[in-house]
Amino acid sequence: MPATHDNAHAITGMIKRLNRPDYDRWASQIRHTGGCRQPIHLRGKVDHYDQATGKLLHRYTTRSEPDGVLRVPCKTRRATRCPACAETYRADTYHLIRAGLIGGKGVPETVTGHPTLFVTLTAPSFGAVHTRREHGGKVQPCHARRNATTCPHGRAMTCTERHHKDDPRLGEPLCPDCYDYTAASCSTPWPRCCGNASPTPYVATWPNSAACSSRSCAAT
Ligand SMILES: [Zn+2]
Ligand SMILES: [Zn+2]
Ligand SMILES: [Zn+2]
Repeated sequence: MPATHDNAHAITGMIKRLNRPDYDRWASQIRHTGGCRQPIHLRGKVDHYDQATGKLLHRYTTRSEPDGVLRVPCKTRRATRCPACAETYRADTYHLIRAGLIGGKGVPETVTGHPTLFVTLTAPSFGAVHTRREHGGKVQPCHARRNATTCPHGRAMTCTERHHKDDPRLGEPLCPDCYDYTAASCSTPWPRCCGNASPTPYVATWPNSAACSSRSCAAT
């Protein structure tokens, strides 16, 4: 391994991590993210109450977790941003569509007798993001606006770049402070299908009462 400054910093961090008493729990969290390159760090607590009696059944807080956070996969669909999560999404999508066509994963085989419709549902906008569009084989400017407005944080809502398809800014907000991360994360249709017999394929898995503190999500 070359002895660059970055690597020296990483090696020091790894040695410190290995020697920490909570290393096993940290390693378990990392394993559960499935190799995610940029795990989201959730911070918060969840209380489970018995609805009939109001009795507290279970309490979970991230305070007892390594660094006070619970690491969950970023679940991006973009392989350039996180190959592991993109692959999970790709495989899950395949199984969802397959189950919808021929049954399985909790869907009865009688589904084959149903009409098949491929419906595209577009989620509402949560704020302007960097995009890449092509027209006539030419890449168009991201957000070219003649009279671009300025957001309350002083950022011009325009971007004249013609982004490369691997540009890491693709999908990122023009203004991270304006972007509604909470609504975006709550409405992200992430399939729980594999290993879950739920007949409803799209279920939001975001812990509602946990606040997110990573750079990937600023929900509070
Ligand atoms: Zn990821
Ligand atoms: Zn852009
Ligand atoms: Zn803004």
